[in-house]
Parts: sequence; structure tokens; C-alpha cells
Amino acid sequence: MRAICWYGRKDVRVEDVPEPKILTKRDAIIKTTLTAICGSDLHLYHGTVPGMREGDILGHEFMGEVVEVGTEVPNLKTGDRVVVPCSIACGNCFFCQNGMTALCDNSNPESDLADGASPAGLFGYSHLFGGYAGGQAQYVRVPFADFGPMKIPADIGDEQALFLTDIFPTGYMAAANCDIRPGDVIAVWGCGPVGQFAIRSAFLLGAERVIAIDNIPVRLDLAAAAGATPLNFGEADVAEQLKQLTAGRGPDACINAAGMSAPDALRQAILACRKGGVVSVPGACAGHVDKFPIGSAFLKGLTLKTGPTNVHPYQKPLLDRIEKGEIDPSFVISHRLPLEEGPAGYSLFDGRDGCTKIVLKP
Ligand SMILES: [Zn+2]
Ligand SMILES: [Zn+2]
Repeated sequence: MRAICWYGRKDVRVEDVPEPKILTKRDAIIKTTLTAICGSDLHLYHGTVPGMREGDILGHEFMGEVVEVGTEVPNLKTGDRVVVPCSIACGNCFFCQNGMTALCDNSNPESDLADGASPAGLFGYSHLFGGYAGGQAQYVRVPFADFGPMKIPADIGDEQALFLTDIFPTGYMAAANCDIRPGDVIAVWGCGPVGQFAIRSAFLLGAERVIAIDNIPVRLDLAAAAGATPLNFGEADVAEQLKQLTAGRGPDACINAAGMSAPDALRQAILACRKGGVVSVPGACAGHVDKFPIGSAFLKGLTLKTGPTNVHPYQKPLLDRIEKGEIDPSFVISHRLPLEEGPAGYSLFDGRDGCTKIVLKP
């Protein structure tokens, strides 16, 4: 089969690789119908994530058709159309049983990522996250398939359903973590794909105003199309503007969707947030960050909420919102490419301008 494989910094290749096989009774094999490049895939592309090996198959955002199931996957049969959560969860451990599927104890037990603990395994995201082959391929092996993949009704298209794999739940959880009440003003740093879903989710959850902070025009335009107030940090003093837009008090909650490349955004969010507010951090973080304004966070009584996304519990409620027509997630797609052009897609997404989200069709 064909798959996008990692070879090093800015070196990804489409290659012939062996097709995956059922390895455990709870596995399924999915024939990928649509997959996407994620902002966090760019960290792999830049070679900043340790634990990658030459030839690793990339991709954690994918959906497809079930072509084979193990003997303990009673919920799926050949021909079912499914979206697969990007994080791999067993469904049985303490964390899975309590809705914290991104913290599953059994899908990545060998890792030692969080200074002694580890989050769940991820498809196509290095051997620190379990070394699972990814979904930017014609076929994927899905472990714990009796718990993860969600069936998609025939009237929901692939482009509407695909982002239930990661970025829609990720943006939604970021907004849900803000405990939004009617009248709230939410500021969102970073208007990439996750930021776009955080903005729309904040409105779905009742925000009065959402302020979208970025410096890339195409992203700010997309945010404005959703009703957000765009704020270009290249042209304006963000702290000052946020004060002006909130009667000097600061946003009720701040979402940092700028990812791990922007510790500045986290500092700004903490300093800008109103007293007693929430700072929600959905973007991937790693390591340590200097000059963390803990004094400001303490004296203002802020709540910090973060963590990898618990995709599983959000999938069904968000599918319901799509079915009701409250949101059509395909709004975020700017480019549609064949899988064979994956390397060009990585390069294009890395350049960012003019590009919000790339989907790839095997
Ligand atoms: Zn992703
Ligand atoms: Zn688990």
C-alpha cells in the first residue's frame, strides 16, 4: 500500500509499505477514505519530536471504511464507515472509565513522557506515543476498535465527519474548559485549525463575543466569518486592545491555541485574563516554559485547564451538532490533495499563509 513516511527534518516521502494485519482480537483494519495534516504533525516535520524512526508512517487524523475486524469487535462489521479518534484508548482503565481517554493507562504503557507518567498512545506520532503506524496511508490498523471508531451516518459526508478525529473535539474541549456563561467574552490566541474550532465552539456554548488573535490574514478572515472580532498582533497592541474590548477588565476566559511554538501567547493569556477567569490550553505543549507568570495567575485567582483532548467522549455529541446543522466542520479546509502529493502538502501547510487545513485522499 502507499503511505506517507517520515525520514527526518522536512523529509517525508510517499512509499510502498506492507499492509497492516490484525494483531489482537480487538483490532480492526480501516481502509482510509480521507486523512488530514495536523498542526502538530509539523513538529514531526520539523524534527523537534524525539522518538521518530526512519520509515514511520505519519498521520493521526483519519477516517475510512472497515475492511477487517478481530474476533472481539462486535460493534463493527466490514463496510462500516467510521471516524477514528486520534488518541488510542482501551476503554477499560480508570482514566477511560472516567472520560479521560487521552490519559489511557494501557495504550502507551512503556512511555515516560510527563516526567514519570504518560498520556495515551497516538496514531503516527513517534515512539514516545506508542509507535503506532499512522493514518496517512491507504490502510491502518486500529487497536481497541471495539471502543474507539464511531460509525458515521450515510448523510454526513467525509469532509463533514473527518475532523471528529481530533481538531473539532480539541477546539470544543478548549471552549468547554472555559465554563462559558451567557455574556462571556473569550479571547483565542492562534487561529489555526484548532483555534478556528475553539472560536466556533465558544459561540455554540454561548459566548457573547470571541476575540481572535493571529497575524495571518486568511486565518483572521475565517475567524471573522464565524462572527469573531479579529485582532492582528502584528498591527495592534494585544493587551491594550483586549482591555479596550472588555471595559478594562480582561476577557472572561483565554484560550491558547497557538501551540508549543508560542510560549509568549501563554504569558499574554495569563496576563490578559480577568480576575477569577480561566486560561485554557488545548495546543500541544512539551517540556518546560520559562518566565511563567505564576504570581499573576495566583493573585488573580485564575484557573488553568489543559491536556491532550479526550476525543472519545466528545465524538457523539459533536456528531449530533453536525447532524443538526449547527456546524459544518468542512469550513476549515483550504486544500484537497491526493495522498501521493502529501510531501507537497506538508511543505504548503508549513508555509501557513493561504492555507488553513489540508486533507489528503488516498
Ligand atoms: Zn491533530
Ligand atoms: Zn484506558
